[in-house]
Amino acid sequence: MYLKEVVCDSCGFLCDPGTPVTACPDCGSPLKLRYDFDRMEREVKKDELSGTGISRYRDLIPLDEPPISLGEGGTPVVLSSSISKDLSGELYLKLEFVNPTGSFKDRGTVITVSKAREWGIEVVADDSSGNAGASLAGYSARAGLDCTIYVPASASGGKIVQVKSYGAELKEVPGPRERATEKIVEDTAGTNTYYASHNLSPYFSEGIKTLAYEISEGFEWNPPEHVVVPVGGGALLVGIHSGFQDLARLGWIDRIPRLHGIQAEACDPVVRAYENSWDRTRPTESGPTIAEGVHISNPDRGKEILEAIRATGGVALSVSESQVKRSIQELARKEGLFVEPTSAVPLAGLKQLSDQGVIESGERVVVPVTGSGLKDIEDWKGF
Ligand SMILES: [Zn+2]
Repeated sequence: MYLKEVVCDSCGFLCDPGTPVTACPDCGSPLKLRYDFDRMEREVKKDELSGTGISRYRDLIPLDEPPISLGEGGTPVVLSSSISKDLSGELYLKLEFVNPTGSFKDRGTVITVSKAREWGIEVVADDSSGNAGASLAGYSARAGLDCTIYVPASASGGKIVQVKSYGAELKEVPGPRERATEKIVEDTAGTNTYYASHNLSPYFSEGIKTLAYEISEGFEWNPPEHVVVPVGGGALLVGIHSGFQDLARLGWIDRIPRLHGIQAEACDPVVRAYENSWDRTRPTESGPTIAEGVHISNPDRGKEILEAIRATGGVALSVSESQVKRSIQELARKEGLFVEPTSAVPLAGLKQLSDQGVIESGERVVVPVTGSGLKDIEDWKGF
């Protein structure tokens, strides 16, 4: 393993990689993992990668032992022939909903749970609007860990059924999404329960990097010009950015794609910060949205999200509820893909990016299709 240290970017606090951590013990900021890139560059070669799924990139992620795997990663990429016709660029869809629990979150969870086992943890918990909770519950079942998931009382029926099916304990927290986070922090402080936060854990974010690795390798190390993602807590966008940075540093790719972050108009703290040239997000009032995966009004990684978008020449923009609904229908009727509303958010944004000339003719665009529509099926009665 090439992991060297775990460090807080804000205050410089150094954590022992052998000790369970979620956020900086000193200031609460997200932590970063640092690797021995000089040794990695000498010893790891892209034409010697072997194996499938995320294990193919085991030298680039913090794994000592074989992971507690359910077969995550290695998801297909399909060219969208129908939707591409209405855009200036060429659209490729990376089907992340075929991951074992039905969303991209499995890439991060496999690392989080594998590390928890290495550390001797027996009890884990997370707060989630659904997909991350279902993912942690599934991998905890595989690893033999006790798991509790805190959800807002408004979370989708399908995802709640999934969490319970894996044998996890479910705690429904009344009030807005943020209340579930406050409650889990209160409940786990000073206990032997590991707060395996998908929004904060540096290990979760490391697993998401494999999406950037797969996209790059799938395009023969000549990555697409654009990657467009939904933005809520930021683990997806920040993880992808970090993955592309690794590859650029190793000299495996010459260029990092422009990373565009799309939010729902009802809850768009990143877009507001981007438009106002703020260097970090500010808590915003939020309204209801069907895209519950991006319904986060005060993202922990707000500063990192903005840095990733700006450093790559990306754009942040928001889309309306009707645009999201139209994109769900379009994906289903034109491409045969049944996705959850959050997955349709970047597709809705894509049209604006194309109309604004951000995406130019002949450029390649990848959109990770983050979660399955089957999880939200109860919301679609009468659709
Ligand atoms: Zn700190």
